[in-house]
Amino acid sequence: MKIIMLGAPGAGKGTQAKRIAEKYSIPHISTGDIFRANIKNNTELGQKAKTYMDQGLLVPDELVVDLVVDRLSQEDAKNGYVLDGFPRTIPQAEALDTALSKKSESVDYAVDVEVPDGDIIDRMSGRRSCSQCGASYHVTFNPPKEEGVCDACGAALILREDDKPETVAKRLSVYHEQTQPLIDYYTGKGIIKEVDGTMGMDEVFDAITKILG
Ligand code: ADP
Ligand code: ADP
Ligand code: ZN
Repeated sequence: MKIIMLGAPGAGKGTQAKRIAEKYSIPHISTGDIFRANIKNNTELGQKAKTYMDQGLLVPDELVVDLVVDRLSQEDAKNGYVLDGFPRTIPQAEALDTALSKKSESVDYAVDVEVPDGDIIDRMSGRRSCSQCGASYHVTFNPPKEEGVCDACGAALILREDDKPETVAKRLSVYHEQTQPLIDYYTGKGIIKEVDGTMGMDEVFDAITKILG
């Protein structure tokens, strides 16, 4: 099963993608996590990506597409995957389709997690992300068992630099301009599945599993 998660920053794509990956035994591939790992390891890619990410801008398509196509060709992705944070532009979606069609494959579902802009600021200001494994928590909606500590790996939780309110506003406008058009793109392909992302995390997951079967 090949699944794409769509939705604004903070809509809950990562939270749901993690659960989908576990339930269907497919890898969770997050381009944001890949970039953050590169930043942490101070790679050339990380250094380039950081300048865009810190400003709330998208990393240029040419730095993203090959990376993802290469990741999808790895052994663990042969039975499918859940893509979180990619594609984010029409050219990325087209490049993905081209790469898949070479293997006579295509995306099965584009799950659009809908959350109004007004709720996003609360989600982002309360998000706490694991500095090691990328798990995300929320101070109110999904607190870790011990404050500031990741349940999964025990590492420290941090407020992402780009989750500060000034940058969130920029990311939202970038989302509306560059990523939201993908909803029409996948509607045209007949694979869009809309989910109300304002419900609790378990309800959102139930709605998704009803769709995926
Ligand atoms: P969120 O989970 O809040 O939606 P991500 O972790 O997916 O954020 O992405 C963080 C940042 O990484 C984005 O703001 C952008 O700068 C960069 N990024 C991630 N995926 C992509 C992509 N597919 N194309 C361009 N930039 C990306
Ligand atoms: P995205 O990957 O779309 O940027 P996340 O999955 O990281 O979003 O979720 C953003 C923040 O909102 C996190 O702090 C997360 O714990 C919280 N969150 C996710 N889903 C819900 C939900 N259904 N209700 C309330 N808070 C949520
Ligand atoms: Zn962790």
